[in-house]
Amino acid sequence: MKPTSTVSSTSTDDDVPKNYVQHILRTQKQLPPVTWHNWWKELQWINVLVLTITPCLAIYGAYTTKLTRETAILSIVYYFITGLGITAGYHRLWSHRSYNASKPLEYFLALAGAGAVQGAIKWWCRGHRAHHRYTDTELDPYSAQRGFLWSHLGWMVVKPRRKIGAADVSDLSKSAVVQWQYKYYLWLMLGMGYTFPAVVAGLCWGDWRGGFFYAGALRLTFVQHSTFCVNSLAHWLGESPFDDKHTPKDHVLTALVTVGEGYHNFHHQFPMDYRNAIKWYQYDPTKWFIAACKIIGLASHLKTFPDNEVKKGQLTMQLKRLREVQDQIHWASDIKELPVITWDTFQEQSAHRPLVLIAGIIHDISPFLDNHPGGRHLLVRFLGKDATAAFFGGVYDHSNAAHNLLSMYRVAILEHGYQQGVEEKVVPPAQRLRILRYNEMGYGSSSDETLVGDEEVKLL
Ligand SMILES: [Zn+2]
Ligand SMILES: [Zn+2]
Repeated sequence: MKPTSTVSSTSTDDDVPKNYVQHILRTQKQLPPVTWHNWWKELQWINVLVLTITPCLAIYGAYTTKLTRETAILSIVYYFITGLGITAGYHRLWSHRSYNASKPLEYFLALAGAGAVQGAIKWWCRGHRAHHRYTDTELDPYSAQRGFLWSHLGWMVVKPRRKIGAADVSDLSKSAVVQWQYKYYLWLMLGMGYTFPAVVAGLCWGDWRGGFFYAGALRLTFVQHSTFCVNSLAHWLGESPFDDKHTPKDHVLTALVTVGEGYHNFHHQFPMDYRNAIKWYQYDPTKWFIAACKIIGLASHLKTFPDNEVKKGQLTMQLKRLREVQDQIHWASDIKELPVITWDTFQEQSAHRPLVLIAGIIHDISPFLDNHPGGRHLLVRFLGKDATAAFFGGVYDHSNAAHNLLSMYRVAILEHGYQQGVEEKVVPPAQRLRILRYNEMGYGSSSDETLVGDEEVKLL
């Protein structure tokens, strides 16, 4: 029988650097920093013009053109259509392959995406895949570590200081729709960005000028900055409910301004998931659009990450937050650290301070004598004595809070008094469920800890 695969002698890990990003940063050349003397040579002028002329046209148009109701509605609708071209098309379909689209839907998304004037699909996805693969490093084309402005649009305005990280887009080279859009991109961009909305408004209600300025330039300004917010705002504002290793965050405000791409912490953890928001009430119109396309037969194979794995991420983050709370609380002394004393010493010491023996542990209850809800007299009866039975129900079945408080008064262990099998009585209720880090659980050395991340936490 023939082996199904062979391992060549050169396919070992020998040539693989320990850290690819650091290896590339060390070995790859980069352009000199931008200074006051060279900045005009270092700008990407075409991008600068696109990003400045569009809002200038929008402002000029807004001051010189009356906005009709029909054109206002068209502008809003076209904002969402071209926005979806980017979010449902460029992003979730072509960058992440999170679902399969039928040909009509692919063409629709390619045209709508061209109307958002953000480059051809292939170029956009190339950068975005690098963004996911090298998030927050210098190989990330719009790394949030370089500041809000850089991740928003600085990376397009200034020539990249180094080549962005490698990312495979060979699947896109095989796509007929992607190739078609690339070939005719200039015409599609001008046609869908400006001409189409002007023609719709012009032919339908005679507002050519309004269609051009409002549904064209103004809508385009909004849709562009909406996408840019996914790289800036979504890496800056909000929470990290699934993982905090990198900058992506979840926030409803970002979702509102990005057609639903605001649950970016989830997205970076589960990029192949067609959803950004997993709760029904969270704003993710892109998800709704894809789901609707599935219902009418235009989309299929919508990918979702196993809920079980999603919950692991959520639980880890919740445990991390709880661990911080746990670390701020004062806990009872570990019984292993308490001195062991004899019965005689216990008796002798009891003459000088209010000591009580409970479950083999000696407690100094002086701070509590006058605060005992059952009265001081009940405690005094047991000074220098074993009050285990009385404490555990003989006189009163104490609350968990009482058990927790009692543990704070521990001062010693009675020799031969503490027996195996009474852990239930010895471990205060508040300490029966604790959060322990991996290396605190007794397995794993400090080097193991580095491997799994020193923030790893587990529930005992
Ligand atoms: Zn991101
Ligand atoms: Zn993405």
